[in-house]
Amino acid sequence: MFKIYNTLTKKIEEFKPIENNIVKFYACGPTVYDFAHIGNLRAYVAEDLLRRVLELNGYKVIHVMNITDVGHLTSQADEGEDKVEMSARKERKTAWEIAEFYTKAFLEDIEKLNIKKPSVMPRATEHIKEMIEIVKKLMEKGYTYFTSDGIYFDTSKFQEYGKLTGMDFKRLNRYLKVGARVPFSKEKRNITDFALWKFSPKDVKRQMEWDFIIEKDKVDLEKVKDNPNIKIEENFVNLRGFPGWHIECSAMSMKYLGETFDIHAGGIDHIPIHHTNEIAQSESYTGKKFVNYWFHVNFLVVEGKKMSKSLCNFYTLKDLLNKGYSWREIRYLLIQTHYRKKLNFSFRSLDAAKKTVEKLRDIIIKIKQVEREGEKTLNIEEIKSKIFESLNNDLDISSSLSHFWKFLKSIKITKISKIDAENVINLILWFDQILGLKLDEFLKEEIEKEALELIKEREKLRKEGKFEEADKIRELLKEKYKIIVEDTESGTIWRKF
Ligand code: AMP
Ligand code: ZN
Repeated sequence: MFKIYNTLTKKIEEFKPIENNIVKFYACGPTVYDFAHIGNLRAYVAEDLLRRVLELNGYKVIHVMNITDVGHLTSQADEGEDKVEMSARKERKTAWEIAEFYTKAFLEDIEKLNIKKPSVMPRATEHIKEMIEIVKKLMEKGYTYFTSDGIYFDTSKFQEYGKLTGMDFKRLNRYLKVGARVPFSKEKRNITDFALWKFSPKDVKRQMEWDFIIEKDKVDLEKVKDNPNIKIEENFVNLRGFPGWHIECSAMSMKYLGETFDIHAGGIDHIPIHHTNEIAQSESYTGKKFVNYWFHVNFLVVEGKKMSKSLCNFYTLKDLLNKGYSWREIRYLLIQTHYRKKLNFSFRSLDAAKKTVEKLRDIIIKIKQVEREGEKTLNIEEIKSKIFESLNNDLDISSSLSHFWKFLKSIKITKISKIDAENVINLILWFDQILGLKLDEFLKEEIEKEALELIKEREKLRKEGKFEEADKIRELLKEKYKIIVEDTESGTIWRKF
């Protein structure tokens, strides 16, 4: 039985999907204006872990992750510049080129980290029609109002506003007022109100903008009449502009997963604004519950501070690869801390992950060479079920890893039988469905043919008692082939260093 912490209820709950063995899972994707840093990637690795554990439980997971290529502004308060347009200005490219370039870079990053590719990756710019439809219905239902820069959602009209945060409406408004870095527009009725649709500004020519044609009697003409981008015709008005960031996720998740779906994921920073607003607009639009389980990943921090672009304390995946760490070591580091705990990034912890991965490789290479005849003595099923149980308990990766390592350390590789060795390898490969470290590649690692012949030759010499000659070969293997040989009860075992 799979249990998961639900931010909505603040409890660990038994997971029950809406449809028998299908899980409809939405994860907020990247804003494609720059490279992802490993803090961002931690969130995607944790979501990948969730997906893998669901799959191990036999569920078919429909995993949707959007690409935010428009509408994410530099401030959380619906002000500031569009991040993609800002990057276009800085890099002297078009906004479309920026979005294309960083989408590709993101896809490369997740592939490198062996994060399973989501089933669908919708781009916001390709779903404007769906967003406008939701905004129009919310207008009809009386949830919206006009300001001079856009159509806003009146959060006071949604009874349960803020339910994800555990704060009531007043408290949440106070909380955002204190935490906000920029002044909120005076035209907003409540601090928590947010833009569903922003009009193209008077003074700046946007690259990404769309028509929004609506009957004239539905528009607050007073508010828009001074904006030259807004065309007022006899019966219709074109509110030319672009969508708010929050509406994008509501439109794309509901399009691919239905009006109510199972799991919605993102970083914990999305709880008070982005996800709270997604709930408000989606539930006001459909009149139904939007999502059953909310899954939030804690931050990756550096010396106690959230890794972020603005603090300039970030590393991209490429930065770490260039420093000589492998993708496996980085993935191991990102996956090993429970997703609801802060992950403290340091090069010391990355070095420790490196050592651990090397150790795992060593064990795999040694175990696969075991040839010793004998009985089955290891209880693999018991350890498997302990690992599985931990994973099913709110993705307790730390305790499943500790079961795994405790078991591996208890094995005497030099003494076990071939049957045991095969079973241990199967266990490692089974667990690797979760770890995602492509450990089968270690299994396939081979050494040069000549080196293998030298090892055999050395064994023969040893049997004949010609130890001096055997030692010379041992030296040669070390110097020329970087291979260390070890003599065990099951014969000679090699490993590369
Ligand atoms: P963004 O591209 O800024 O929207 O972020 C993409 C995802 O990464 C979101 O789910 C964020 O919550 C998450 N995120 C951003 N910074 C961090 C961090 N330092 N640690 C963990 N997750 C983060
Ligand atoms: Zn989102």
